[in-house]
Amino acid sequence: MAVLKKDDRETILTDDTLVTDSNDNAAVSTKVAAVRDVRMVLVNPSHPGNIGGAARAMKTMAVNQLVLVSPRNYPDPRAVWRAAGARDLLESAIIVETLDDALADCDLIVGTSARDRRIPWPLVDAHECAKKIYEEPQSSKIAILFGREDRGLKNEELNRCHLHVHVPTSDAYSSLNLAMAVQILSYELRMRSLQVDDSKPNPVVDTTDQWDEPFASGADVERFHEHLAQTLVDIDFFDPDQPKQLLTRLRRLFVRVRLDRMEINILRGILSTVQEKVKRNK
Ligand code: SAH
Repeated sequence: MAVLKKDDRETILTDDTLVTDSNDNAAVSTKVAAVRDVRMVLVNPSHPGNIGGAARAMKTMAVNQLVLVSPRNYPDPRAVWRAAGARDLLESAIIVETLDDALADCDLIVGTSARDRRIPWPLVDAHECAKKIYEEPQSSKIAILFGREDRGLKNEELNRCHLHVHVPTSDAYSSLNLAMAVQILSYELRMRSLQVDDSKPNPVVDTTDQWDEPFASGADVERFHEHLAQTLVDIDFFDPDQPKQLLTRLRRLFVRVRLDRMEINILRGILSTVQEKVKRNK
């Protein structure tokens, strides 16, 4: 199985439809890409037909980055058949082994879900999701996660997301086919791109691009949460044998805040100091 290597990641990141130089705000306002090229991440898809269907759904809406996390039966001729004219997009899909590999460099992570959650999360519909994505700085790397056909996304996967998207389907049957969910999200991105006037500066984009620090990447955030959990164990605040919902609630707090890299460094510095003090007093 092909694994996302550093070079591949750079290929994703340096897609020339995006303006990535956040110091050049004039460029951002005049060369805004027609479509934000969001990474569509299928987590452990089991039916190859759905992978092909997702590729076709994306290509028709000019969304181009498909990432497959450990697909169960792939490659497979059924995927090619369902992709029809989107075979090229399928062939350029990146296959990774873990969700960490897919999200390491992502700044904004969106999770799609057919179900309600016990602990509510910032929740939007597909239309609002596309709007939020277009408010992101051009340099932002964005991923939308889609779950397994039988079980959707696991809680720990949904907990990594800044935002959840639910398509308000019927109460009688809420679960969309995977490729159709990809179609709906891609359609809304497309609609938003058609409304963006490239000739005018986007005030929201320009403002957020001037934030003094870049947002923390997915990998930075994961390391911070591991550090936080370990420190809470060290100070006897958290018992891993009785986890309850503490870590989930803390995750929700931090996705609401949207930490930048400097803030993560400060928080990790505080955690390390606490750990040292506790170690010395034990
Ligand atoms: N039985 C699963 C449904 C999985 S459908 C469950 O109960 O979660 C496969 C994927 O399609 C889901 O993980 C999600 O990514 C997407 N999806 C399906 N229905 C959706 C809906 N109503 N809103 C948002 N995403 C949906």
